Amino acid sequence: MMAVAGQQDGRVKQYSEVFPRSTVFVIGGGIGGLAAALALARAGHTVTLAEQAAEFGEVGAGLQLAPNATRILRDWGLLDAVVHAGVVTENLVARDAIDGSVLTVMPLGEAFLARYDAPYVVIHRTDLHQILLDACRASAGITLLTGTTIIDVQTEAQGATVTAEDGRRATYPVVIGADGLRSRTRDALVGDAPIPSGYVAYRGTIPSDGQASNDVTVWMGPGCHLVQYPLRQGTLLNNVVVFKSAGFARGDVEYGGVDELDTVFAGCAEPVQAALAHVGRQRRWPLYDRAPAPTWNDGRIVLTGDAAHPMLQYLAQGACQALEDADALARLAPGSKASEWDGAIAGFVAEREPRASRVQTTAHAFGDLCHAVGEQRLARNALLASRARDDFTVADWLWADRAPAHL
Ligand SMILES: Cc1cc2nc3c(=O)[nH]c(=O)nc-3n(C[C@H](O)[C@H](O)[C@H](O)COP(=O)(O)OP(=O)(O)OC[C@H]3O[C@@H](n4cnc5c(N)ncnc54)[C@H](O)[C@@H]3O)c2cc1C
Repeated sequence: MMAVAGQQDGRVKQYSEVFPRSTVFVIGGGIGGLAAALALARAGHTVTLAEQAAEFGEVGAGLQLAPNATRILRDWGLLDAVVHAGVVTENLVARDAIDGSVLTVMPLGEAFLARYDAPYVVIHRTDLHQILLDACRASAGITLLTGTTIIDVQTEAQGATVTAEDGRRATYPVVIGADGLRSRTRDALVGDAPIPSGYVAYRGTIPSDGQASNDVTVWMGPGCHLVQYPLRQGTLLNNVVVFKSAGFARGDVEYGGVDELDTVFAGCAEPVQAALAHVGRQRRWPLYDRAPAPTWNDGRIVLTGDAAHPMLQYLAQGACQALEDADALARLAPGSKASEWDGAIAGFVAEREPRASRVQTTAHAFGDLCHAVGEQRLARNALLASRARDDFTVADWLWADRAPAHL
């Protein structure tokens, strides 16, 4: 391998070796990057993955995994581990956060499983990340690098060249930008910026005696909501509260503080107010997305996960869509002919971009429904109350992709 020069602390450093040789280079070791690396390695490709952090890891609390994601995890042989680490959800429940009434229940038992062919699972995000990381480490085709920040990616005729902050540089047939919401790779390809929604989340887990139901419950309030579900076989209860920040509307730089949190939820039912004691107050999470991107690739550089389709979390699909990306990439990737990657990437974008964009857009609409105020809240409640418990049609477009032929 050729030695390259790097600039660090004002001094030019000589590197005796560059990155490992492989077909694919993945930027980012979150759920999306690890999933892409794993899926491609399972399909026979060699992969180098670079994560900027000194150690692999995830921050935050729970993740919901709908059957469009759990079918893929089962294909990869990971569903048993995911179910073991998490909880199989029994019902999705929507309640009004003001009067506490149950608006609708979607049972996730027999009829659901017959329809979607895989369970709905909730899992701590660190557990899913660890399961994917372990699977990558066990794969002979994957080299994992930490402490490696990629600062530049350039398209070449038959690949792309990545440059790290420390000066290492190498060219690969394919480069995947899985570098999240604030993706530098996307900045270079699309040039847009994250859009603040004006909503802020606080999240946290508390120990639980395992007596809580195995339901995911969404308490829908005016400009706010609470999501609750058990994690780790019921030993933890996950709480996420989200609200529209008045401070954001006023133009405050530091909007959505705990004073706003307490004010917004003051009119809510007792169980919702009680949950406020169970979220971490030290860290607030302003929520962002981006508009669907006009392009996902530049030659052999291609975006996946939040870099491609950062979305508001209202459909609980960001990570699920990243798993779909990985699955599609691996299905469409060519065999040994490097020249066929151009067609594979075009096929990937053609398959994934319309669907992920629809999820991004629908997440906004679902958020609006969830946060309805006044007459609209009453109309929403009436609409949800009129839904039959066994009516899944509203979710088919999202969960039934690659489902049994009868759908
Ligand atoms: C409140 C909330 C609730 C959510 N709930 C759900 C849910 O229930 N279900 C669901 O499916 N999704 C959910 N999501 C979405 C989900 O968390 C994300 O979609 C998913 O984690 C994105 O993974 P990713 O790997 O694409 O991006 P990230 O997790 O952001 O990972 C990107 C990685 O790239 C690394 N990186 C960045 N830049 C560089 C660089 N230049 N060089 C090297 N490495 C770099 C970062 O350090 C990071 O490790 C939720 C999100 C939020 C905010």
